[in-house]
Amino acid sequence: MKNGGNSMGHNFNNKIVESNLYSRDSIITDVNKEFTDCTGFTTDELLGKSLKIIEQQKQQIEQLKYEVEQKNTQLISILENLSEGVMVSDNKGKYIMMNPEAKRLVYQSSHVIDAGDSSRNTHYFDIEGNDIPFENLPEIRALRGESIKNAKMFVRHPNKEYFMEVSSTPSYAANGDLSMVVSCFHEITETIQQSRKILEQKKQLEAIIENIADGISIFDNKGKYILFNKSAREMSPVYSENTYKVGDRNNQCELYDIDGEKIDSENIPARRVLRGEKFKNMRMAIKFSHKTSQIDVSGTPIYDNEGNFSIGVLCSRDMTDNFKYENILKDKNKFLDRLLDNFELPVVRLSCTDLKILEINQKAFYMLKTFLPHIESAVKIKGTKITDMVTPFNETEYFQKINEVIKEKKTKYLNRKVHLINGNEVYWNVIFEPMLEVNDEIKEILILIIDVTDEIKSNIVMGKAMKSQEEFFANISHELRTPLNVIASTIQLLKMYYSDESLNNRKESIIKYIDSMKKNCYRLSKLINNIVDSSKIEAGFFELNLLNHNIVEVVEEIVISVTNFTDSKGLNIIFDTDSEEKIIACDPEKIERIILNLISNAIKFSNHGGEIFVDIKDKSEFVEISVKDNGIGIEEKYLDMIFDRFKQVDKSLTRNAEGTGIGLSLVKSIVELHGGSISVESEYGKGSKFIVVLPTREVMQQNMIFSSNIRDNSEIIQVELSDV
Ligand code: ADP
Repeated sequence: MKNGGNSMGHNFNNKIVESNLYSRDSIITDVNKEFTDCTGFTTDELLGKSLKIIEQQKQQIEQLKYEVEQKNTQLISILENLSEGVMVSDNKGKYIMMNPEAKRLVYQSSHVIDAGDSSRNTHYFDIEGNDIPFENLPEIRALRGESIKNAKMFVRHPNKEYFMEVSSTPSYAANGDLSMVVSCFHEITETIQQSRKILEQKKQLEAIIENIADGISIFDNKGKYILFNKSAREMSPVYSENTYKVGDRNNQCELYDIDGEKIDSENIPARRVLRGEKFKNMRMAIKFSHKTSQIDVSGTPIYDNEGNFSIGVLCSRDMTDNFKYENILKDKNKFLDRLLDNFELPVVRLSCTDLKILEINQKAFYMLKTFLPHIESAVKIKGTKITDMVTPFNETEYFQKINEVIKEKKTKYLNRKVHLINGNEVYWNVIFEPMLEVNDEIKEILILIIDVTDEIKSNIVMGKAMKSQEEFFANISHELRTPLNVIASTIQLLKMYYSDESLNNRKESIIKYIDSMKKNCYRLSKLINNIVDSSKIEAGFFELNLLNHNIVEVVEEIVISVTNFTDSKGLNIIFDTDSEEKIIACDPEKIERIILNLISNAIKFSNHGGEIFVDIKDKSEFVEISVKDNGIGIEEKYLDMIFDRFKQVDKSLTRNAEGTGIGLSLVKSIVELHGGSISVESEYGKGSKFIVVLPTREVMQQNMIFSSNIRDNSEIIQVELSDV
C-alpha cells in the first residue's frame, strides 16, 4: 500500500480514494498477514516492524477521518442546497436534521422538535381533499416501519397552502432496530394545478367531441379504438367502446365506394390512416342489415415527437339526406336533359362558375353555329368553356348577365338582344335561370333563348300600320268634312232663300247647289263604299261574282261613259285595243271599279289639256289593260308604296284633288281576287302608266241572276268620279 500524495492535501488520486474505501477489518487482516509472514525474525526486528505497521495504520486512520469529514461537508452542502425538503428523525420521531427547504415548508420550523409539533398547526389532506389523520402521515407510518413513496398531499398551515409529494423511509441499525426515518418532500402545487387545468380542458374537449355533429372516432397505433363520439355511435351502431378494433365491424356491415365497388378490408378508412394516409371526404356507403348510410370520411394520422404513429382520427359526416337530394337533383337533371333535347327553344346549361357547357340542345347548337361555324356537334362542345369558345366573351352582355345571376342568385333577362345572322336582323329574349343546390349554392345556369324576331318585326309592321291608319283617319275626316260642309252650307243657303222668299228668283243657282249636294253625296258614298269594301277584303268577306264576259266591251263602255266628264275637265281620253273580243271570267261590276278608279286617278293627277290612254292588249294567256296619263307622275321612291292601304304620296306637292289612299290598294286587291296583278310605271313630271294583267280563263257555272241584272252604271260613274 502506498501513500501516493500529501495526506492533508485535497487532491487525492483515484487509486487512493478507492483504497480509502477499505474498512477497518481489512486493515487488521493486513497486520495479521504481515505478522505471520514475519515469523523467524528477532523481537526487535518484530517490534520495529510492528511500530512501522502501527504508524502506517495511524496514517491510514487519519486519512479516513479526513475523508469522512470531507464527505460530511459535501453531504451537508448538498442538503443545504437541495430543492427537496429533507427531514431526518430518530426512532422516537424527534428531528435530528431539517434542511433549509424543509424549514421553509414546515410551519414555524424553528419551534418544531418532533412530528407532533409539525402537525400541530398544519392540516394534511389527500389529493381528493380528505383529511389525513396524524397517525397516517407518511413520517408516522415510516416510524411504524412502512416505506412510503411519492405520496401526494395537500398541506394547509396559517402561512401557506400547497400540494406536496412526500417519501418517508425507515432506516435500520446493524442490530435491525429502526434507527431513524428520512422524509423527503417537495412542492407540486404548480404541477397539480396544471394537470387539473389540463384535465378540465380535456373534459371540455371531450364534451365538444362528444356533441359535435360530425362523427369522430380515434384509435391507437395498434388499431384499437380509444373514442367514439355520439354522432359516430349513431352513424355506426355496432361500435362498442373499449373492445372495438379497426376492422371489427367488417362482419357486421359492408362498405362501398362512390362507384358502388366494395371496399376491401385493407382499404377501409381506418386502415388507410394506420398506413399513414391522410385524406379528405372519402364518400362511401355503409350497408348494415337494417339500413344503408352515405358517409363522407376524412382521415388523419397523428405522430408523436419521435415521428411514430400515435393515434388515428376519423371524422365522418352523414350525407344520407344530401345523397338523397343529390340523387333527386341528378334525376331532375337527367329529366331536364331529356326535356331540353326535345325542347323547341334553344337551351344551354352552363356549369358554375367555370362556365363549361354541360348540355346544349340541337336548337341552341345550330344557333351557336351561325356565329361559330367551326363547331362540329353538340356532343363535341360539351365540357368546353364558353369563355374559350366565344372570345372575348367577358365583354358581352351575356357574360354581364351571367355574373349578375351568380352574384344575386336570381333570374336575369336580356330583352330584344339584336344579332345579325346571314345579313338579317334577329331579336332574342334571353333568360338566365340559376339552378341552386340543396345548400343554396349555385350549381349551374340555364340559358333559354326565345326568338322574338317575328313578334318584333310584326310589331314594327303593326306600328307602321297604326301610323298609316292614323294618316288615313286624318284624311278621312277631311274627306268626310268637305262634302258635309258643302251640303250643310247649301242647306243653310236654301233655308235663307226660303225665308226671304227668293227661291223662285234663284232657280238656276239652286239647281247648281242641288247638283253640288248630289256630287258631295256621291263622294260620301264612294268613301263609304271604299271603306266597307276594303274592310271586307281585309276580313275575307269580299266576294266576286264571276261571269264569262267580253272584257274589251266592259272596259270600252266605261271609257265611253266617262268621256263627257273628261271633256268637261279639258282632258282627252283615248281608248285602244288590239282585239275586239276577249272573254274572260270577271266580275264586270268590280272591273268597272278598277278601271274607274285608275281613270279617276289619271284625271286627278293630270293637268288641263292632258291625255289619258286606255289600252287593251290580248296576250293570249292573259289580257293586259293599261291606263296611262301624261300628268304629274310619281317619284320613284313612292312607287313601291302607292298600293299600300291608306298611302298617299305627299299631298302638298302632288295633289290637286282630294283622296283617301284606299283606292289603289282596293284596286290591287280586286285584281288579285281575279287572279291577276297590277303594276305601275311612272316618270316624275311626265306621267304614269298603271298596268292590270288578268288571266285568260272562264268559269263553268255562272250566277245568272247576277248576270241578268241590268245595272245603271251612270250613278256608279258619278260616285267613282265624285272626288275628282
Ligand atoms: P287617293 O284616294 O288618295 O287617290 P289612291 O290609292 O287612289 O288614293 O292613290 C294613292 C296615291 O297614289 C295618290 O294619293 C297619289 O299620290 C298617287 N297616284 C295614284 N294615281 C296616280 C297618277 N295617275 N298620277 C300620279 N299619282 C298617282
